[in-house]
Amino acid sequence: MPLRQTAELRALEPTPVPSVRSRCADLIDTLADGCRLGRDGLVTLITSATAADQEHARRRAVAVAHEHFGNRVFVRGLIEFSNHCRQDCLYCGIRKGNRAVERYRLDAEQILRCCAQGYSLGYRTFVLQSGEDAWYTTDVVVDIVSRIRAAYPDCAITLSIGERGREAYQRFLDAGADRFLLRHETATADHYAQLHPPSQQLATRLRCLADLKEIGFQTGAGFMVGSPFQTPEHLAADLALLAELRPHMVGIGPFLPHRSTPFGDRSAGSVDLTLFLLSLVRLMLPTVLLPSTTALGTARPGAREQGIQAGANVLMLNLSPQDQRAKYLLYDGKSVSGEVAEMTHAVQRSLERIGYTMVVDRGDHPEVAR
Ligand code: SAH
Repeated sequence: MPLRQTAELRALEPTPVPSVRSRCADLIDTLADGCRLGRDGLVTLITSATAADQEHARRRAVAVAHEHFGNRVFVRGLIEFSNHCRQDCLYCGIRKGNRAVERYRLDAEQILRCCAQGYSLGYRTFVLQSGEDAWYTTDVVVDIVSRIRAAYPDCAITLSIGERGREAYQRFLDAGADRFLLRHETATADHYAQLHPPSQQLATRLRCLADLKEIGFQTGAGFMVGSPFQTPEHLAADLALLAELRPHMVGIGPFLPHRSTPFGDRSAGSVDLTLFLLSLVRLMLPTVLLPSTTALGTARPGAREQGIQAGANVLMLNLSPQDQRAKYLLYDGKSVSGEVAEMTHAVQRSLERIGYTMVVDRGDHPEVAR
């Protein structure tokens, strides 16, 4: 555009009034330009972004996701293979202290059957998730991973089984596991202590994350939005930790109460804030694998699709046997019905409606894709 015309147009625009709105838009643009924000900037975004700012972040995040992944969404087949847990996270429905849970375990054969069904429907990543169940010793996990690896050489194997030693993690990797999800839950030690018993320490969690990343796992961190006692400063610390750690995957979902936990009467985390944080994470880590989580979809119908439209690029669908699903309740309200093929096709259609395609692909992080 010729200079003169620009000047003329500028003259027609109202004089910009410095405001929190423009400050947030600037901060969002700073993130989008690849710069890191300090704590104050992050807190400002979390506390002061208007709906218009959030929309600005969303558009920029979608553009970044599109640049790296096009309109492709990766699906993962989630296999919840045990709800036994030695840990006692105050927010979690399958915590050790919840005597009301009917506990179950799947053996290697049952897990492999879930994989077979998933494979036939196009799943090329299997996410094995459980409580922290010592019945699955290092050897048992190695056996399960090796068998999946042998049967499905073209698939990625993700573990989400909690805290173990570095040697155990190394053996899982050697057996053929590719990825490991271990949300840090909150990056602030005092807040961590409000969500967990004293036997569980943030330092342990962070040590595990560092080990996983160092030995070569595609590593996932993450946190809940709106967990009890959470402040904007806590969330800013969570984002700062992600910027520092640069995980390959980030899991973010709203906290949802489970009635037989100490936080049963707390209110759920905000869906809109979760969506905004998804956009910010996409801007901070442009190539990150970012699921639009089950918790998000549970909190509000349609929110899982909105997560994709906020910059997420992964969906995890449940391949667990239908008769066990109701027992793996981390929070109330989780959908447990639905036949796997039907559910897969329904999600495929809902993605197509918003202009995305579900891809049959391992969907590795671009930096490690082989
Ligand atoms: N035991 C494994 C994984 C199972 S829990 C581990 O420790 O990593 C998976 C995730 O679910 C947790 O990391 C937590 O962030 C989330 N979660 C647990 N309870 C929840 C709740 N009440 N609301 C929302 N998310 C919850």
